[in-house]
Amino acid sequence: MRLDKISHKRLHITILMLVNVVMLILVVVSGRFLSDQSSLQIGRVSIPGHSLTGILQSLLFVGCILVTLISYEIGTRLSVVLILFVCVLDIFGILQSHSLAPLPGLFNALLNLVLILIISKQFRVVEQESLTDYVTGLYNMRGLLETLDQRIGTHVPFTLLYFRIDNFRMINDNLGHDMGTKLLREISVQLLEMTRGYGTVCKTGGSEFALVLDSDFNIDNFRREMKERFGGKVALDDSEYPVYCYPRVYAGTVRYPEDALDSATLIKYADMALYHAMKAHNNALISFDEEMASEIIKQNEMESVVKECLAGDYFYLMYQPQYDMHDKKLRGFETLLRTLLPDGRSVSPADFIPVAEKTNLIIQIDTYVLHRALTEMVDYIKDYDQEVILSVNVSANSIGRDDFADKVINVINETGFPASRLELEITEYSFAESENMTIQNIEKLRKLGVKIALDDFGTGYTSLSQLVKLPINLLKIDKSLVDDIETSEMSRDFVNAVIYMGHLMECDVISEGVESQMQVDLLKEQNCDYVQGFVWDRPLYYEAAVAMLKRGKDD
Ligand code: C2E
Ligand code: MG
Ligand code: MG
Repeated sequence: MRLDKISHKRLHITILMLVNVVMLILVVVSGRFLSDQSSLQIGRVSIPGHSLTGILQSLLFVGCILVTLISYEIGTRLSVVLILFVCVLDIFGILQSHSLAPLPGLFNALLNLVLILIISKQFRVVEQESLTDYVTGLYNMRGLLETLDQRIGTHVPFTLLYFRIDNFRMINDNLGHDMGTKLLREISVQLLEMTRGYGTVCKTGGSEFALVLDSDFNIDNFRREMKERFGGKVALDDSEYPVYCYPRVYAGTVRYPEDALDSATLIKYADMALYHAMKAHNNALISFDEEMASEIIKQNEMESVVKECLAGDYFYLMYQPQYDMHDKKLRGFETLLRTLLPDGRSVSPADFIPVAEKTNLIIQIDTYVLHRALTEMVDYIKDYDQEVILSVNVSANSIGRDDFADKVINVINETGFPASRLELEITEYSFAESENMTIQNIEKLRKLGVKIALDDFGTGYTSLSQLVKLPINLLKIDKSLVDDIETSEMSRDFVNAVIYMGHLMECDVISEGVESQMQVDLLKEQNCDYVQGFVWDRPLYYEAAVAMLKRGKDD
C-alpha cells in the first residue's frame, strides 16, 4: 500500500518533470524563432509571437508549482533550475535585443521563484512537524517508518532497538502528568547520549522509543549503560531537591537484513524481542533469535487454526465441575473451550488463546463461548433445584471494551439465562489494560447479579492495596500456588495468606488445579471454600455435564 503510493508519486513527478522540460524547450524555441511581428494562427485566432512565449512561460511556471506541491524536495530543485534558466534567457534577450520587452517575463519568473521557495519552506515545516513527537522533539512513528524505508533503500545493515518504560503509567498516575512528561524528556536525552550520533532516536508510543542504529554501534555497551542509567532512581529535575522515580525499562533488538527485510517485519520482531525482555528481568535487553522466529511461525499457525475454527465452527465446550470443599456439593461449572478440526487435529486453549489475545480474534471467541455456553446450559441450570453457577472465561481485551457489558446483557436476554447464575472469570491483566472501562463494565453487570471471579490469582503483579479495591466475588487460586503445598511450608503459608485475604475482601475462595486428596485436606484446613481439579473431576463433555445436572435434580 505504502509502496503503491510511493511509486504513484514517483510516476506523477516524472511525468510533470518531462512536461516542464518540454515546456521549457518550447519557451526557448518560441522566444528564439517567433519575432514580435510573427504570429501563430489557430483557426480564426491569431496569437502574436511574444504572447505565445508569455503563455508558454506561464504554463511552465504552473508546472513548476505543481511539481513542487507533489514533492517539495525534488520539485523545488528542478523548478529552481528551470526558472533560473528562463531568467537567463530573458536577460540574454534584453542584452541581445537592446529592448526591455522580456523584462515583464523576467519579473514574472523571479516572482514564481520566490513563490516556489516559500511553498517549499512551508512544506518542510509541516513535514517536519508531522514526523515529530511534540513532547520530546524526536521523530514519531511516521518518522521511524520513513527512517526505516530510507535505510532499507540503501541496503546498508542496521539494528532496530525497541525500548519501553514498563511502569510509565504508574509513574504518571502517582507523580502527575508533568513528571511523566519530564521522565519522557529525560529518557530521550539519555538515549540520545547513549547512541552518540550512531543512529536515530524516535518516540513511537506513549512510553516507547525506537532506535535505528548503525551496524557498528556497540549493543553490549548500550546494555551496560541501560543498567547504569536506569537501574536505580532517575532524577526528574536538576533542582536542589529533585523528584526521583524508578522506571523499569526493557529493550529488544532486531537486525537488518539478517532477521528481516521490511520495516513492518522488523518492527514486529523488535516488539517480540522486547516482549521477551519484559518477561526476563528488569533492564533486560534481548535480541531477536531463531527461537523467536519459530515462535512466530507457530503463532501464525495458531492464528490460522483459530480462524479456521471460527469459520467452520470447529469449537466445542467442556464443563469442569467446581465443588464445595466441605460437603462436596456442586457449586457449578467452568466452561472450557476445545477445538476439533475435520482432519482430527485439536489444539489446546493454553496455546491458541494467548495468540487470539494478540489479535481481535479473542473478541469473537469470547462472544461465541458466552453465547454457546448460555444457550447449551440455560434449561438445565434453571431447572436444577439448587443454585449452580456457570463460569465463562473472558479475556482482558473483551472486558476492556466499551460495548462488553451490553453484549453480555444481550446474550442474557436472548437466551433467558438467569444473570445471577452467570460468573465471568477475568484476570488481573483486565485491570492493568483498561482499568476504568473494565470496572464500569463489571459494575453494570454486577447490578444485574452477574458474578465476577478473579482467575489465575498468584501469577500476576497486582499489589495487595490494589487487589482489595477490585470488585470481585470469587478469588481463584492458581494451580501453580497449589502445586507445592504438600511439600513446601512456604507455599502452604502463602496459600493460607491468600485465602485469609480473600475472606477479608468478602470473597469466596476456590483452588484450581487440585490433583490430590492431600491437597484437598490441606486446603480444607486452611478454610478454602471451593475446589476445582482433576482430584474430583476433569472437564466433562456437554452430555456428561447435563447428565450430572439432571441426576442432581432427580436425587
Ligand atoms: P483457566 O481458566 O485457568 O482454566 C483452568 C485450566 O486448568 C483448564 O485448562 C483446565 O482443564 C485445567 N485444569 C483444571 N483442573 C486441573 C488439574 O487438576 N490439573 C491440571 N493439570 N489442569 C487442570 P484448559 O482448558 O487447557 O484451559 C487453559 C486456559 O485457556 C484457561 O485457563 C483459560 O485461561 C483459557 N481458556 C479456556 N477456555 C477459554 C474460553 O472459553 N475463553 C477464554 N477467553 N479463555 C479460555
Ligand atoms: Mg478460568
Ligand atoms: Mg485459571
